[in-house]
Amino acid sequence: MTPLALVPVETDRDILPRYRKCPIGDLLALQNLGRPVPEASVPDLVIVTCMDHRVILDLPTFFAFCLRTAGATPMPVISNIAFAVGTAGARNICVVGHTDCAMGKVDVTGGAMVEHLVDHDGWTPDDAQAQLALLHQVFRIDDPVQATWTHARHLAERFPSCVVAPLLYRVEDGKLVQID
Ligand SMILES: [Zn+2]
Repeated sequence: MTPLALVPVETDRDILPRYRKCPIGDLLALQNLGRPVPEASVPDLVIVTCMDHRVILDLPTFFAFCLRTAGATPMPVISNIAFAVGTAGARNICVVGHTDCAMGKVDVTGGAMVEHLVDHDGWTPDDAQAQLALLHQVFRIDDPVQATWTHARHLAERFPSCVVAPLLYRVEDGKLVQID
């Protein structure tokens, strides 16, 4: 398998040709180059990103539907994406994973989650363990780059009418990087 490349965006020319002149290129130019996006009346972009508080996308009105799930995992919100594509006519989708994602450390932190739920929220150990198992099964990722790529490929198969882009958000500097 060809290794994945990270393609930063520091100038317009760095935006991959398939994302130019579409809302994905507009998002990259907005986030990395500070350029305002063209005005629109209906969002043509769906963004699936992580719930992590360090992922900050300053999105203008009418620009994008934004869904947040742990690990930027789209499978649990496929119906939400289908709604945006099917009713609002969105034709562009970005999966935005990020560096240092906590979903890569569930194996280490999951025990503390179970302990807290049992000790402070009155959950039974079985219920708490079941939620941890769900988190592990559905949302856990190994590597953010590989996971984001896989999620995007999955969405491209489900929504062939759309351009689907895997992007990585660097929490270190708030910039987006293309995964190619
Ligand atoms: Zn995350």
